[in-house]
Amino acid sequence: MIEEVYNACVRCGLCLPTCPTYLETLTETSGPRGRIGLIAAVDQGRIDLLSPGFVEQMSQCLDCRACEAVCPSGVEYGVLVEEMRARIETAVAPNRPPAQRRLRDLLLHRLFASGRAMRAAATLLRFAQRTGLQRLGASLFGLRDAAALAPEIPDRFFVADGRRYEVRGAAGTAFLHAGCVMPVAFARVHEASIRMLNRARLNVVVPKEQGCCGAIAVHAGDPSFARELAKRNIAAFEASGADVYVVNAAGCGAALKEADRLFSEDADWSEHAARFAARVRDITEVLDAMELDPKIGSIESTVTYQEPCHLAHAQRVSAAPRRLLAKIPGLRLIEMNESAVCCGSAGIYNLTEPEMAARLQRRKTENIGATGAAIVATANPGCALQVAAGLRAAGSPARVAHVVELLDDAYAAYGATVRRA
Ligand code: SF4
Ligand code: SF4
Repeated sequence: MIEEVYNACVRCGLCLPTCPTYLETLTETSGPRGRIGLIAAVDQGRIDLLSPGFVEQMSQCLDCRACEAVCPSGVEYGVLVEEMRARIETAVAPNRPPAQRRLRDLLLHRLFASGRAMRAAATLLRFAQRTGLQRLGASLFGLRDAAALAPEIPDRFFVADGRRYEVRGAAGTAFLHAGCVMPVAFARVHEASIRMLNRARLNVVVPKEQGCCGAIAVHAGDPSFARELAKRNIAAFEASGADVYVVNAAGCGAALKEADRLFSEDADWSEHAARFAARVRDITEVLDAMELDPKIGSIESTVTYQEPCHLAHAQRVSAAPRRLLAKIPGLRLIEMNESAVCCGSAGIYNLTEPEMAARLQRRKTENIGATGAAIVATANPGCALQVAAGLRAAGSPARVAHVVELLDDAYAAYGATVRRA
């Protein structure tokens, strides 16, 4: 089935300069064209699926889809890498040591799948952060780098509890996707999103029946669990009667917009999934298309925009966040070099491929530093954490914010000017 996809590659090499791992290594096999050649060889039985070089390349690829976005032949590279990761997972899963199997099951099937489990884990992490236990544990177990990426857990969580946020004269109803990490690490982004959607004259519903988007399951080569999660969100959206399914995390949005791909062989669900996928929008697309309340304050500051891969490449949404930033009086947008080159976050990539992730993080930090901007705007929690950790390590005073938070701040400052150096 994937034969058609890889056969569409004409080996032109136009994708090479967009590939972060190729830019870092200048090695053909660490770029999209080389990886497509390897995938074809494995699919045709010329290379063993579990040969170390192949497994390494499937792991080192960020699945950032920058190559896909520029390919003149329309090669759906994401389909290829995700299929190969699923095949590798199927082959290695039975031989995984029981302790590793249990840990994977705990993380993938219990932690990310349950809002309650995520809140319990985040409460423990918050306690460890406030008491210094996190620092102590990280240095005892040699996990300083991983700990540096952990989000600072705030005092309050966001809970998808079925509440409705209504506005007079609403033009429609938006379903807000809560997700798994966002409610415990970025509650303020959800709160800002609700206020901004209301300012765009949309009622907002946050049904409690929703769940994780399934992107982590797809990236980990577990499409059947991703299907289970997708069914939950599709059913919650259908039951809500909302007009649009709004996502403020680019990685989740990309997975949800492609939910139909998961059900291509399931006649019962494929139509539901296709209808659902067609209604998913990133919040920047929604706000950009709506008329916003004109009562906006100003933010006197310099901002640079870091493009989340799964917004720019997978969803092809690039102009909307910039147009929204341009609507904030006083804000000066300075473009950085390589804004659309991955920062090295890519789901759990910074944990599975720490060396390449650190190289890409440094590259991004340097590009940000060259702009001199006081704020880095982005639209994905993974990018926010990775960029913030890079800035901290470089001693930069710049801070990171979601595009929607900046807009919300500007509205909150109506009648005044906020200055951010
Ligand atoms: S994936 Fe597309 S851009 Fe890259 S080499 Fe193949 S045809 Fe060219
Ligand atoms: S998905 Fe990203 S890292 Fe992987 S080959 Fe394409 S551009 Fe390179």
